[in-house]
Amino acid sequence: MGDYFERIVDVEVTAEEAGPLAERMVDWMVAEGLITRELSGDGVFSHPVREGYVRGPNWARAVADSSNRDWLPGPVAVIVGRNYYVCGQGADEASCAVCPRCQSKTVIINYPYEFERDDEVWQPFEDGIAAWKETGEGSAPCSTCGASVPVTQWQWEPGFAVGALAFDFWDWPELSASFCATFSRQLGHRTVEHGGKV
Ligand SMILES: [Zn+2]
Repeated sequence: MGDYFERIVDVEVTAEEAGPLAERMVDWMVAEGLITRELSGDGVFSHPVREGYVRGPNWARAVADSSNRDWLPGPVAVIVGRNYYVCGQGADEASCAVCPRCQSKTVIINYPYEFERDDEVWQPFEDGIAAWKETGEGSAPCSTCGASVPVTQWQWEPGFAVGALAFDFWDWPELSASFCATFSRQLGHRTVEHGGKV
């Protein structure tokens, strides 16, 4: 199986709300039987979080296909605090981002011609994200329309997200679309889902 994760990031919650909201989500998942309150560090690589909640008796309700009886999911780690998330192995940037004001796309890694980021293009985004992590506010200018767009409003490629609350499902079969929709409704915010391997 390897160390796969599927991640749901709340891209709207503030850092101040994230802690209490994380507790409410854990309460809800425990009540639904998806997880228990028992913590385990087995197969959890959600830096800086070292432990996750062990699967509950009803874990299969969250996944698209639970027919493989040998596949038992690992813990669910909850990460609170402003952070950016990348699903690609070794990647530390978004490959592109779309400006919400003018809809133009800024290309950071010019796939399939290049496999390295354009540092000059990425730098303002990196700076904006660093400022947001530090203070809760940070933006990067759109090179097309000139607008200074908050990093939480840029439409990142699906493998990249910025948010103050994330849930890592370690070694779970694919989460069902209906579960992800319910999860997002429980959060009361827009979410981004992606997966990867460490
Ligand atoms: Zn723009």
